[in-house]
Amino acid sequence: MTNEDILHWLERVADVLHENASYLTQLDSAIGDADHGSNMDRGFQAVRAKFPIIAAADIATQLKTVGTTLVSTVGGASGPLYGTAFLRASAVAINKQELSSADVVAMIEAFLNGIIARGKAHAGEKTMIDALQPALEAAKQALNEGLSLAEITAHASSAAEEGMKATIPLLATKGRASYLGERSIGHQDPGATSSWFILRSLAEVCA
Ligand code: ADP
Ligand code: MG
Repeated sequence: MTNEDILHWLERVADVLHENASYLTQLDSAIGDADHGSNMDRGFQAVRAKFPIIAAADIATQLKTVGTTLVSTVGGASGPLYGTAFLRASAVAINKQELSSADVVAMIEAFLNGIIARGKAHAGEKTMIDALQPALEAAKQALNEGLSLAEITAHASSAAEEGMKATIPLLATKGRASYLGERSIGHQDPGATSSWFILRSLAEVCA
């Protein structure tokens, strides 16, 4: 992936989160405070405003700018979580003009580890991690099998989608949804859904 590809990915994410803002907010109204869609849309519209500045920047600078922009514009848990994810992802790209398939998998790993470091959640707690962790496992397996970047990211996206759907029966034990206790069961996690959109957009750009 080049810096041009990263920009296309970010554009796609901004579009998809804008188109799905009310869907994400609807999911968050069931088990949260009905702001996940507006949070993500606000954050990525602020990122969009920086596209002219970062279009020609190196990949690490692009991803770092996304991270700092999300931290400063998104209120709520998702701002610091995704902000840290993009900041960690940017570290993988330092001094690289292009990302190899292995680098892209390392970027997904750093992204996930940023969320784990910031939110202290683990798989099965009904969060973003339930989409991102299976996605990373699928990406690693596809990389080891020698598949192309398009296939690696497609496998990651499919695994994220399955992980997202698998949050429905889970009991939330982190974040606002955990305040609902048993009543969090039966609803799809909004953050796992936005994580799937982010990975699906990556797969679309790599296809
Ligand atoms: P808030 O909960 O502050 O209103 P958002 O609605 O924007 O923030 O984001 C909610 C999402 O954040 C949840 O659906 C969940 O996926 C994610 N989340 C919350 N807490 C954590 C955590 N500790 N670790 C990982 N993800 C979390
Ligand atoms: Mg919320």
